[in-house]
This record gives sequence, structure tokens and C-alpha cells, in this order.
Amino acid sequence: MKKYNFGAGPSILPQEVFEQSAQACLDYNGIGLSLLEISHRSKEFEAILEETITLTKALLNIPTGYQVLFLQGGANMQFAMIPYNILNEEETANFVETDLWSTRAEEEARLYGKTKIIASSKDANFNYVPKDFIIDSDAAYLHLTSNNTIYGTAFFEDQSYPIPVVCDMSSDIFSRPVDVSKYHLIYAGAQKNLGCAGITMVILKKEWLGRSKRPKSKMWDYSIYAKNNSLYNTPPVFTIYTCLLTLRWLKKLGGVEEMKKRNKAKAALLYQEIDRNPLFRGHAAVEDRSRMNINFIANDPEHEAAFLEFVNSYNIHGLKGYRTVGGFRASCYNALPIESVEVLVKAMQDFENKSSK
Ligand SMILES: *Cc1c(COP(=O)(O)O)cnc(C)c1O
Repeated sequence: MKKYNFGAGPSILPQEVFEQSAQACLDYNGIGLSLLEISHRSKEFEAILEETITLTKALLNIPTGYQVLFLQGGANMQFAMIPYNILNEEETANFVETDLWSTRAEEEARLYGKTKIIASSKDANFNYVPKDFIIDSDAAYLHLTSNNTIYGTAFFEDQSYPIPVVCDMSSDIFSRPVDVSKYHLIYAGAQKNLGCAGITMVILKKEWLGRSKRPKSKMWDYSIYAKNNSLYNTPPVFTIYTCLLTLRWLKKLGGVEEMKKRNKAKAALLYQEIDRNPLFRGHAAVEDRSRMNINFIANDPEHEAAFLEFVNSYNIHGLKGYRTVGGFRASCYNALPIESVEVLVKAMQDFENKSSK
């Protein structure tokens, strides 16, 4: 039986994406070849890539003047590739530190230019998102993480800032409408809301191509990817196909507006139980609560291992919290049905009843 998968990433994808991509491994569209054995320059793959880019632009309502790129190496590689391509050595980038990922992004950027953490919630184990930070008006860009996968906080507003904004949307891309015009660069690893692991989507304002003046390795140069439509070398063909299938599914269901509605409903259901149930409490400040990664803690530390054991009989998978937070993390990405949240809520209630006996 399929488990209720709350894993943080790689994570659940729509069931039809699993089925269609499995079929494509055996015989892609009845052409007598597996998707895994055709050229990335074949007309079949060119059509896959084209449709993936077109759907991305349509679903996120991307204005003209932006380039959609597919790169390998994960979001972690973008922590370095962004400053390498954008930041000149004498320039400064500003960072808002809201979890381990933003810490890593800042550490990598230091290798290529100057950095400044202008706000951080590290002092409170990242349980909130800093609000009133002062931006250096002469900084090259401001780096944000829209959803903090580990600690379960989020920025929900696409705000205007006086300098260009770079945003890591790895764990909430396509979960809500985004005003892309507010950003110069958006990046997201695929393996949470978009497809299987192996690709990172970069949405980049074209005027930023070639911004940093350092000589660049070709495989690390956005301009090379832009010129070759992400086909300078062999991309992970299968991964891109899973992205396309996920985006088709998303479009069919009503796009990012519908996802936002569903994600809000799922999150409301679970937070309501966390707040009601005397055995548990939430980690994140209420106003900054993520809809994608919902962290909660057992009030009695002895209940932690016991509850993780208890949910096994409910067929629940992937609920253990990250080691620096402890407790539980229910990742409720787009593909997670509300029925899974209902099962988790039921398990929490049954655990409460059992414990009070
Ligand atoms: C998962 C995640 C990452 C890391 O992605 P990799 O693909 O493993 O490099 C970075 N940032 C955020 C916000 C994430 O959720």
C-alpha cells in the first residue's frame, strides 16, 4: 500500500507523474524507445524541454525579459553560481538568514565578493522571519529564502525592495502565485514541488546575463546556458520530463491559484490540531508559519520517539523533524493530498486519547 509521505525532499509527486514517467522508461509515447535511451537533441526531447519552459512561463505568469534555465548541481550549486555570475569582487550582497540554506548561500558568496547578513533569526532557532531589516542601498542584491524547509517559516509577500532580489524558492515554487517582476533571479531545486531530483530551475532577468566581470568556466556561466537553451551539454532528460508531467498536472488542476487554496486548507487543518492538541506545540511563530513544511514538537520529550513509532501503524512516512529542530516535520507539498493530513490529524488525536488513559 502507498504510504502517506510527509518527507521533506525528495518528496511526493502526483501519482500520475509516477505512472506516466514509469511508462516513459519502458516506451516513450509508443516510439519503440525508452525515454532513457533517446538523444537530448532528438525532436522528442526538444518538444519536452520546450513545453516545460512554456508551461513554467504560463503558470508563473513570467513577464517578458526573463530567461528560464535548467541546471544541474542542486540549489546548493546555485549558492555559488549566483555570486559567481552576478557579484563582482568589490561589490556586496545582502542576506537575510532564515535557515541553514541561507547560511550556506552567504558562505559561498563570500568566495566571490563581499557579503553582509542584514538580519537573522538564528538567535531563536530560526522560528521566525525577520521583518524590519535595513538594506544597503549600494548592495548588488538582496538574497532571501521564501520558504524555510528545515524550520517551517515563510515569507508570503513578494515585496518591492530598493535593490534587486534573488530568492531561493526550492521548497515553495509553484505552491502559490508569485509576482516574478519583483525578483531578478529565482531558483529552485526540482525535488520538492516540481519533479524528481537532478535539476534546478533558474528564472533570471536577461539584463543580468554577463553581469559579473570575472572570466567564467563554461559550465558555470549562465550566458552559455541561455545561448544554448539549457542544452550546452546533456541535461538530465528524465528529470526534466518529470517536471513537465508535474506542470501538466498542475495546469489541469487549476494552476498556482488552486494550489495556494489547497495548500492553505491542508496547513489550516494541521495547525489547528497542533494548537488544539495538548501534547504538541508548533515551532514557528504563528504569523510566519509555512504551508509547505509544518514543524511541531511534543511537549513531553518522551512522546517524541513514541509518536514516531505510533504513526507507523497509520502508514505515515517521513515525519521525523530535522536534527537541529527535533520533533516532527510534516511536509505538505503540492502533491500531498488533504487525505494524508486527515490521517495525520487522526493519528495525533488517537495518540492523545491513548496517552490520557
Ligand atoms: C532542499 C533545499 C535546498 C537544497 O537543495 P539541493 O538540491 O539539495 O542542493 C536549498 N534551499 C532550500 C530552500 C531547500 O528547501
